[in-house]
Amino acid sequence: MTHLAMGDGAEFDRIRALLSHFGTQAAGIGDDAAVLSIPTGEQLIASVDVAVEAVHFRAEWLAPDEIAWRAMHAALSDLAAMGATPRGVLLSWTLPPDRLQWLDAIAAGSAAAARAAEVPIVGGNLSRGDTLTLGTTVMGSAVHPVSRAGAQVGDRCYVTGRLGGPQAALRAWLAGAQPSAAARERFAHPVARLREGRWLAGAGATAMIDISDGLLADAGHLAAASGVSLAITSALVPVHPDSVHADALRSGEEYELFITAPLIDCAQFERELGTTLTAVGEVRHAEGGPRVRFDTPGDVSRVDSPRGHDHFS
Ligand SMILES: [Mg+2]
Repeated sequence: MTHLAMGDGAEFDRIRALLSHFGTQAAGIGDDAAVLSIPTGEQLIASVDVAVEAVHFRAEWLAPDEIAWRAMHAALSDLAAMGATPRGVLLSWTLPPDRLQWLDAIAAGSAAAARAAEVPIVGGNLSRGDTLTLGTTVMGSAVHPVSRAGAQVGDRCYVTGRLGGPQAALRAWLAGAQPSAAARERFAHPVARLREGRWLAGAGATAMIDISDGLLADAGHLAAASGVSLAITSALVPVHPDSVHADALRSGEEYELFITAPLIDCAQFERELGTTLTAVGEVRHAEGGPRVRFDTPGDVSRVDSPRGHDHFS
Protein backbone atom coordinates (compact mmCIF):
# COMPACT_ATOMS: atom_id res chain seq x y z
CA MET A 1 0.00 0.00 0.00
CA THR A 2 1.67 3.20 -1.17
CA HIS A 3 -1.38 5.48 -0.82
CA LEU A 4 -3.55 6.38 2.14
CA ALA A 5 -6.72 4.26 2.30
CA MET A 6 -9.91 5.95 1.01
CA GLY A 7 -13.59 5.44 1.73
CA ASP A 8 -16.28 3.89 -0.48
CA GLY A 9 -18.02 5.40 -3.49
CA ALA A 10 -17.83 5.67 -7.28
CA GLU A 11 -15.66 8.79 -7.17
CA PHE A 12 -13.13 7.10 -4.91
CA ASP A 13 -13.19 4.02 -7.14
CA ARG A 14 -12.19 6.30 -10.00
CA ILE A 15 -9.40 7.85 -7.93
CA ARG A 16 -8.23 4.38 -6.88
CA ALA A 17 -8.02 3.50 -10.58
CA LEU A 18 -5.93 6.62 -11.22
CA LEU A 19 -3.61 5.80 -8.35
CA SER A 20 -3.05 2.32 -9.74
CA HIS A 21 -1.60 4.02 -12.85
CA PHE A 22 0.46 6.48 -10.83
CA GLY A 23 1.92 3.71 -8.64
CA THR A 24 4.95 4.69 -6.59
CA GLN A 25 5.09 8.00 -8.54
CA ALA A 26 2.23 9.12 -6.26
CA ALA A 27 3.30 7.40 -3.04
CA GLY A 28 1.81 9.06 0.03
CA ILE A 29 -1.04 10.76 -1.83
CA GLY A 30 -4.51 10.88 -0.26
CA ASP A 31 -4.38 13.35 2.62
CA ASP A 32 -6.16 16.73 2.53
CA ALA A 33 -3.05 18.45 1.24
CA ALA A 34 0.50 17.53 0.25
CA VAL A 35 3.53 18.15 2.43
CA LEU A 36 6.73 18.82 0.48
CA SER A 37 10.29 18.92 1.76
CA ILE A 38 12.60 21.52 0.28
CA PRO A 39 16.36 21.20 0.90
CA THR A 40 17.65 23.78 3.38
CA GLY A 41 18.86 26.90 1.62
CA GLU A 42 16.69 26.43 -1.47
CA GLN A 43 13.68 28.53 -2.49
CA LEU A 44 10.27 27.17 -3.53
CA ILE A 45 9.48 27.83 -7.21
CA ALA A 46 5.92 27.25 -8.45
CA SER A 47 4.10 27.57 -11.76
CA VAL A 48 0.75 26.53 -13.22
CA ASP A 49 -0.21 25.65 -16.78
CA VAL A 50 -3.38 24.43 -18.45
CA ALA A 51 -4.02 22.44 -21.64
CA VAL A 52 -7.51 22.88 -23.09
CA GLU A 53 -8.94 20.72 -25.86
CA ALA A 54 -9.47 22.64 -29.12
CA VAL A 55 -7.29 25.48 -27.80
CA HIS A 56 -3.95 23.76 -27.08
CA PHE A 57 -4.46 20.45 -28.86
CA ARG A 58 -6.95 18.59 -30.99
CA ALA A 59 -8.06 15.12 -30.05
CA GLU A 60 -7.66 13.87 -33.62
CA TRP A 61 -3.93 14.68 -33.59
CA LEU A 62 -2.80 13.04 -30.38
CA ALA A 63 -3.59 9.99 -28.28
CA PRO A 64 -4.84 10.77 -24.74
CA ASP A 65 -1.61 9.56 -23.10
CA GLU A 66 0.33 11.93 -25.37
CA ILE A 67 -1.96 14.83 -24.46
CA ALA A 68 -1.23 14.13 -20.79
CA TRP A 69 2.55 13.80 -21.33
CA ARG A 70 2.62 17.06 -23.22
CA ALA A 71 0.60 18.90 -20.58
CA MET A 72 2.98 17.84 -17.82
CA HIS A 73 6.24 18.59 -19.64
CA ALA A 74 4.91 21.95 -20.85
CA ALA A 75 4.34 22.85 -17.20
CA LEU A 76 7.69 21.42 -16.06
CA SER A 77 9.45 23.41 -18.78
CA ASP A 78 8.82 26.57 -16.76
CA LEU A 79 10.73 25.03 -13.84
CA ALA A 80 13.54 24.09 -16.24
CA ALA A 81 13.76 27.73 -17.31
CA MET A 82 14.36 28.70 -13.67
CA GLY A 83 17.14 26.15 -13.22
CA ALA A 84 14.96 24.35 -10.65
CA THR A 85 14.70 20.76 -9.50
CA PRO A 86 11.05 19.58 -9.59
CA ARG A 87 9.73 18.52 -6.17
CA GLY A 88 6.06 17.80 -6.86
CA VAL A 89 3.17 18.21 -9.30
CA LEU A 90 -0.55 18.75 -8.65
CA LEU A 91 -3.03 17.68 -11.33
CA SER A 92 -6.42 19.31 -11.89
CA TRP A 93 -8.46 17.61 -14.59
CA THR A 94 -11.89 18.40 -16.04
CA LEU A 95 -13.46 15.79 -18.30
CA PRO A 96 -16.70 15.89 -20.27
CA PRO A 97 -18.75 12.64 -20.13
CA ASP A 98 -17.66 11.61 -23.65
CA ARG A 99 -13.98 11.75 -22.61
CA LEU A 100 -14.31 9.68 -19.44
CA GLN A 101 -13.14 6.59 -21.33
CA TRP A 102 -9.79 8.38 -21.80
CA LEU A 103 -9.14 8.65 -18.09
CA ASP A 104 -6.95 5.55 -17.83
CA ALA A 105 -4.79 6.60 -20.78
CA ILE A 106 -4.47 10.16 -19.45
CA ALA A 107 -3.38 8.79 -16.08
CA ALA A 108 -0.86 6.45 -17.73
CA GLY A 109 0.57 9.33 -19.81
CA SER A 110 0.87 11.55 -16.75
CA ALA A 111 2.57 8.78 -14.77
CA ALA A 112 5.08 8.17 -17.58
CA ALA A 113 5.78 11.89 -17.90
CA ALA A 114 6.30 12.28 -14.15
CA ARG A 115 8.56 9.23 -14.03
CA ALA A 116 10.69 10.60 -16.88
CA ALA A 117 11.09 13.89 -15.02
CA GLU A 118 11.67 12.11 -11.69
CA VAL A 119 8.95 14.17 -10.02
CA PRO A 120 6.29 12.82 -7.62
CA ILE A 121 2.57 13.42 -8.22
CA VAL A 122 1.55 14.83 -4.84
CA GLY A 123 -2.15 15.53 -5.33
CA GLY A 124 -4.94 16.29 -7.71
CA ASN A 125 -8.55 17.04 -8.40
CA LEU A 126 -11.02 15.51 -10.82
CA SER A 127 -14.15 17.27 -12.09
CA ARG A 128 -16.83 16.86 -14.70
CA GLY A 129 -17.07 19.76 -17.16
CA ASP A 130 -17.79 20.79 -20.73
CA THR A 131 -14.23 20.67 -22.11
CA LEU A 132 -11.30 18.34 -21.53
CA THR A 133 -8.89 20.47 -19.52
CA LEU A 134 -5.64 19.32 -17.94
CA GLY A 135 -4.28 21.74 -15.36
CA THR A 136 -0.81 21.12 -13.96
CA THR A 137 0.76 22.91 -11.02
CA VAL A 138 4.49 22.31 -10.70
CA MET A 139 6.63 23.00 -7.67
CA GLY A 140 10.39 22.92 -7.57
CA SER A 141 13.31 24.41 -5.76
CA ALA A 142 16.71 25.93 -6.42
CA VAL A 143 19.42 27.71 -4.43
CA HIS A 144 19.70 30.45 -7.05
CA PRO A 145 16.67 30.54 -9.40
CA VAL A 146 17.56 32.03 -12.80
CA SER A 147 15.06 34.70 -13.85
CA ARG A 148 14.49 36.08 -17.35
CA ALA A 149 15.55 39.52 -16.11
CA GLY A 150 19.28 39.05 -15.52
CA ALA A 151 20.86 39.35 -18.98
CA GLN A 152 24.04 41.46 -18.94
CA VAL A 153 25.51 43.51 -21.78
CA GLY A 154 28.32 41.45 -23.29
CA ASP A 155 26.70 38.06 -22.54
CA ARG A 156 26.22 35.58 -25.36
CA CYS A 157 22.83 34.13 -26.34
CA TYR A 158 22.33 30.37 -26.59
CA VAL A 159 19.54 28.00 -27.50
CA THR A 160 19.12 24.28 -26.73
CA GLY A 161 18.04 21.74 -29.32
CA ARG A 162 16.85 22.41 -32.88
CA LEU A 163 13.77 24.54 -33.50
CA GLY A 164 10.79 24.16 -35.80
CA GLY A 165 9.66 20.55 -35.21
CA PRO A 166 6.36 21.35 -33.46
CA GLN A 167 5.48 23.94 -36.12
CA ALA A 168 6.25 21.38 -38.86
CA ALA A 169 3.86 18.91 -37.19
CA LEU A 170 1.14 21.57 -36.90
CA ARG A 171 1.54 22.59 -40.54
CA ALA A 172 1.11 18.99 -41.66
CA TRP A 173 -1.99 18.40 -39.53
CA LEU A 174 -3.60 21.68 -40.57
CA ALA A 175 -3.02 20.72 -44.22
CA GLY A 176 -4.77 17.39 -43.62
CA ALA A 177 -1.50 15.44 -43.86
CA GLN A 178 0.54 13.39 -41.40
CA PRO A 179 3.73 14.93 -40.01
CA SER A 180 7.05 13.11 -40.18
CA ALA A 181 7.70 10.81 -37.23
CA ALA A 182 10.41 13.16 -35.92
CA ALA A 183 8.25 16.30 -36.10
CA ARG A 184 5.30 14.47 -34.54
CA GLU A 185 7.53 13.28 -31.70
CA ARG A 186 8.67 16.86 -31.02
CA PHE A 187 5.01 17.92 -30.71
CA ALA A 188 3.64 14.89 -28.84
CA HIS A 189 6.53 14.17 -26.46
CA PRO A 190 8.42 17.35 -25.58
CA VAL A 191 10.90 16.73 -22.76
CA ALA A 192 11.30 19.61 -20.29
CA ARG A 193 14.99 20.59 -20.26
CA LEU A 194 15.29 20.20 -16.50
CA ARG A 195 18.81 18.75 -16.33
CA GLU A 196 19.93 21.21 -18.98
CA GLY A 197 18.45 24.15 -17.06
CA ARG A 198 20.24 23.17 -13.86
CA TRP A 199 23.51 22.63 -15.74
CA LEU A 200 23.21 26.05 -17.38
CA ALA A 201 22.35 27.71 -14.06
CA GLY A 202 25.48 26.14 -12.61
CA ALA A 203 27.51 27.31 -15.61
CA GLY A 204 26.61 30.95 -14.93
CA ALA A 205 23.44 31.57 -16.98
CA THR A 206 22.35 35.15 -16.28
CA ALA A 207 18.84 34.77 -17.74
CA MET A 208 16.73 31.92 -19.10
CA ILE A 209 13.30 31.48 -20.67
CA ASP A 210 11.68 28.42 -22.20
CA ILE A 211 10.54 28.69 -25.79
CA SER A 212 6.76 28.31 -25.59
CA ASP A 213 5.62 31.21 -27.78
CA GLY A 214 8.42 31.01 -30.39
CA LEU A 215 12.05 32.19 -30.31
CA LEU A 216 11.18 35.66 -31.67
CA ALA A 217 8.56 36.27 -28.99
CA ASP A 218 10.35 34.65 -26.07
CA ALA A 219 13.68 36.38 -26.81
CA GLY A 220 11.61 39.57 -26.84
CA HIS A 221 10.19 38.77 -23.41
CA LEU A 222 13.69 38.16 -22.04
CA ALA A 223 15.04 41.37 -23.61
CA ALA A 224 12.16 43.40 -22.16
CA ALA A 225 12.52 41.88 -18.68
CA SER A 226 16.30 42.40 -18.68
CA GLY A 227 16.18 45.90 -20.21
CA VAL A 228 18.67 44.96 -22.95
CA SER A 229 18.76 44.43 -26.70
CA LEU A 230 19.61 41.09 -28.23
CA ALA A 231 21.52 40.83 -31.51
CA ILE A 232 20.72 37.40 -32.91
CA THR A 233 22.24 36.01 -36.09
CA SER A 234 19.33 34.19 -37.72
CA ALA A 235 21.62 31.94 -39.74
CA LEU A 236 23.01 30.49 -36.50
CA VAL A 237 19.61 29.43 -35.13
CA PRO A 238 19.56 25.60 -35.24
CA VAL A 239 16.74 24.29 -37.43
CA HIS A 240 14.98 20.93 -37.00
CA PRO A 241 15.60 18.70 -40.06
CA ASP A 242 11.88 18.79 -40.98
CA SER A 243 11.57 22.55 -40.64
CA VAL A 244 12.72 25.65 -42.47
CA HIS A 245 14.48 28.69 -41.14
CA ALA A 246 11.57 31.13 -41.05
CA ASP A 247 9.44 28.62 -39.12
CA ALA A 248 12.21 27.79 -36.63
CA LEU A 249 12.25 31.45 -35.51
CA ARG A 250 8.50 31.43 -34.77
CA SER A 251 7.73 27.82 -33.86
CA GLY A 252 6.04 27.72 -30.45
CA GLU A 253 5.63 24.98 -27.85
CA GLU A 254 9.26 23.97 -28.40
CA TYR A 255 10.04 23.74 -24.68
CA GLU A 256 13.70 24.34 -25.50
CA LEU A 257 15.63 26.96 -23.51
CA PHE A 258 16.91 30.38 -24.60
CA ILE A 259 19.78 31.49 -22.40
CA THR A 260 22.08 34.45 -21.88
CA ALA A 261 25.42 33.83 -20.20
CA PRO A 262 29.10 34.62 -20.36
CA LEU A 263 30.99 32.15 -22.56
CA ILE A 264 29.67 28.56 -22.24
CA ASP A 265 31.45 25.47 -23.58
CA CYS A 266 28.75 24.14 -25.95
CA ALA A 267 30.73 20.98 -26.76
CA GLN A 268 31.00 20.12 -23.06
CA PHE A 269 27.24 20.73 -22.62
CA GLU A 270 26.48 18.38 -25.50
CA ARG A 271 28.87 15.72 -24.20
CA GLU A 272 27.38 15.75 -20.72
CA LEU A 273 23.68 16.15 -21.57
CA GLY A 274 23.27 14.70 -25.06
CA THR A 275 21.45 17.87 -26.17
CA THR A 276 22.85 20.49 -28.53
CA LEU A 277 23.59 24.01 -27.30
CA THR A 278 24.17 26.68 -29.94
CA ALA A 279 25.48 30.24 -29.62
CA VAL A 280 23.15 32.48 -31.65
CA GLY A 281 23.94 36.05 -30.67
CA GLU A 282 24.90 38.55 -28.01
CA VAL A 283 23.45 40.98 -25.48
CA ARG A 284 23.83 44.72 -26.17
CA HIS A 285 22.76 48.01 -24.62
CA ALA A 286 19.07 48.74 -25.07
CA GLU A 287 19.67 51.97 -27.07
CA GLY A 288 16.23 53.52 -26.84
CA GLY A 289 14.32 50.49 -25.63
CA PRO A 290 14.75 46.75 -25.32
CA ARG A 291 14.42 44.93 -28.61
CA VAL A 292 15.58 41.88 -30.49
CA ARG A 293 17.46 42.38 -33.74
CA PHE A 294 17.68 39.40 -36.06
CA ASP A 295 20.43 39.69 -38.64
CA THR A 296 20.25 37.55 -41.72
CA PRO A 297 22.98 37.78 -44.36
CA GLY A 298 21.92 40.50 -46.82
CA ASP A 299 18.91 41.45 -44.74
CA VAL A 300 19.31 43.28 -41.45
CA SER A 301 15.88 43.59 -39.95
CA ARG A 302 14.96 45.08 -36.63
CA VAL A 303 12.06 43.47 -34.83
CA ASP A 304 10.63 45.96 -32.36
CA SER A 305 7.62 43.94 -31.30
CA PRO A 306 8.53 40.29 -31.74
CA ARG A 307 5.56 38.32 -32.96
CA GLY A 308 4.98 34.84 -31.71
CA HIS A 309 2.08 32.92 -30.33
CA ASP A 310 -0.51 35.10 -28.61
CA HIS A 311 -3.14 33.13 -26.71
CA PHE A 312 -5.78 35.82 -27.21
CA SER A 313 -5.08 36.72 -30.83
MG1 LIG B 1 7.78 29.83 -19.78
